[in-house]
Amino acid sequence: MFKINEDYLKLPGSYLFSTIAKKINAYQEENPEKALIRLGIGDVTQPLAPAIIEALHGAVEEMGNASTFHGYAPDLGYEFLRSAMAQNDYQVRGCDIKADEIFISDGAKGDSGNIQEIFAKNNKIAVCDPVYPVYVDTNVMAGRTGTYDPQTEKWSDVIYMPCTKATNFAPELPKEVPDIIYLCFPNNPTGSTITKAELQKWVDYANEHKAVIIYDAAYEAYITEADVPHTIFECEGARTCAIELRSFSKNAGFTGVRLGAAVIPKDIKSGDTTLHSLWARRHGTKYNGAPYIVQKAGEAVYSPTGKVQLKEQVAYYMNNAKVIYNGLKEAGYTVSGGVNAPYIWLETPKGMTSWDFFDFLLEKANVVGTPGSGFGPSGEGYFRLTAFGTYENTVAAIDRIKKA
Ligand code: PLP
Repeated sequence: MFKINEDYLKLPGSYLFSTIAKKINAYQEENPEKALIRLGIGDVTQPLAPAIIEALHGAVEEMGNASTFHGYAPDLGYEFLRSAMAQNDYQVRGCDIKADEIFISDGAKGDSGNIQEIFAKNNKIAVCDPVYPVYVDTNVMAGRTGTYDPQTEKWSDVIYMPCTKATNFAPELPKEVPDIIYLCFPNNPTGSTITKAELQKWVDYANEHKAVIIYDAAYEAYITEADVPHTIFECEGARTCAIELRSFSKNAGFTGVRLGAAVIPKDIKSGDTTLHSLWARRHGTKYNGAPYIVQKAGEAVYSPTGKVQLKEQVAYYMNNAKVIYNGLKEAGYTVSGGVNAPYIWLETPKGMTSWDFFDFLLEKANVVGTPGSGFGPSGEGYFRLTAFGTYENTVAAIDRIKKA
């Protein structure tokens, strides 16, 4: 008789986006004439850049020709892409990361969920609160988080690091020492970042306690300020304690194309065993690689034309971020984020809950955003708007919010 993985049953329902969808549907049924503007989900809206399209077409042509056809990709990914990443994302910044320390994948969501597999069940994880939900949920599935308290919305065996206004939406070093620390900067959902000096403290702390940092750099391309690190490997000592996750979703619009990478330096060891060797084993056994066509598109991200076009695309979204940030400030809201990230985090007015404010914006401004409480208890009283809409919709949404 088969038995299910009962840890899955412990997962509280993910009500956030389904509740949002239900509320939108109900509102639209009653008000079919109202055109909603959606600044809720963190998905891009601009088409793929011409350099990417050209690379995709070229790779498709290759696949149609016996002499240039490609079957299974190498386990770690194609050398041309790993080398482009090693050089452009790391070596030009003076970071010692080699191409064979980069594992190409189909995105940071899978990697951030799967990476926990190479660690023992009795590791204790620490996460920011609020947080991208994948880190906690995948540890729940693996039976690593203890019991859930619906009152506090917390797991007994997870260390929560509140990221509140008082801490500038950054975590503080936890008092109880974790084994695995999840960090994400620029942050989803708060749009906050930390300086290189602050990140260095985390690297020193992890090395001191023999902990591992899983550093999600999915929004790296949105950094505009000089003292914000683009990779954790800018910090001294990160090679012995940090894994970095990269995504092509937000810097190049690959949310529907799918491409990412996990960077695991060969210096992170438990005894004689490297985490690199465990992930290589895992990758080789469970994963057959991102498609050749997509990896060629990824290579084009690093071409001179690709870089120019994608810089423009990111600037387009960051201009939206500015419109949202400045518009909300003018309207009297307390806002943060939006400077090094495509997310604007705003305090709900007059003590409204995150969901009250969701209903208010939906009904009075016909604008959809995401309640902060959906990302963790410390998100209550906050609301996330994204800069990933079109410019026209963004301007119209802010206009409506101001009038509401
Ligand atoms: N990590 C964070 C923090 C995210 O916000 C997201 C998507 O929104 C992802 C990872 C997913 O990235 P990918 O599309 O590469 O799977």
